[in-house]
Amino acid sequence: MKEVKIGKTTLSLIVGDITEVDTEAIVNAANPTLMGGGGVDGAIHSKGGPSILKECIQIRKTLYPEGLPTGKAVITNAGNLKAKYVIHTVGPICNGVMTEKEKELLSDAYRNSLLIAKQHNIKSVSFPSISTGAYRCDIKESSKVALKTVIDFIKQNPDTFDKIQFVLFQENIYKLYQQTLEEILNESY
Ligand code: ADP
Repeated sequence: MKEVKIGKTTLSLIVGDITEVDTEAIVNAANPTLMGGGGVDGAIHSKGGPSILKECIQIRKTLYPEGLPTGKAVITNAGNLKAKYVIHTVGPICNGVMTEKEKELLSDAYRNSLLIAKQHNIKSVSFPSISTGAYRCDIKESSKVALKTVIDFIKQNPDTFDKIQFVLFQENIYKLYQQTLEEILNESY
C-alpha cells in the first residue's frame, strides 16, 4: 500500500478487489450499454445484485437511450456492496494503441467520475484501473493519465474528498501505478 496526502485528501494505491472496499463510492469501468459485462463490471453487478442493473436500465431509458458516451459518468446505488454508490464510467477502447485522443477520453472518465461524486457530496471514492483490461490501453500511460487527472482534481477541489484510492487487481499493475506516482511527486507536479 502506498499513501500520500494532498491537502486534506489521502490518495492511496492498494492491491485488491474493488467489490470488497468500503469507500462511499466505487467506480465501475463500464461499457456504453450499462448492462454489465466482464472484468470489474461483471464483478460489481454479480456481487452487488439486481438493484444496480435496475437503475442502469432506468438511466438508459431516460438520460442515455443510445448508451453512455465514452468519458461520461453516471451514478447508481451499490446494492449489496459495502459502498453506498457505484459511479459508472466508460473509458476509451485502445486495443493496444493509445493516442492523445484516448488519453483525453480516459482523463474525462476519471474527472467526470470525481465531478459526479462531488455533486453527491461523497467523501471517499475507489477507482479501478479503467481501460487497462478488455479495452487494452497501455498500463503505464493509463496510470499517468489516471494519477495526474486525480491529483489535479484534488488540487482544484481541496475541500472535497477525504480519500481517493486506486484498487488494483494485479500486483504488476499496482507496481506500475506506484512507480508513476513517485515520478509525478518527484517532478513536484
Ligand atoms: P476495461 O474494459 O475498462 O478495460 P476491465 O474490467 O476489463 O475494464 O479491466 C480494467 C482493470 O480492472 C483491469 O486491470 C482488471 O484487471 C481490473 N479488475 C478486474 N476485476 C477487478 C476487481 N474485482 N477489482 C479491481 N480491479 C479489477
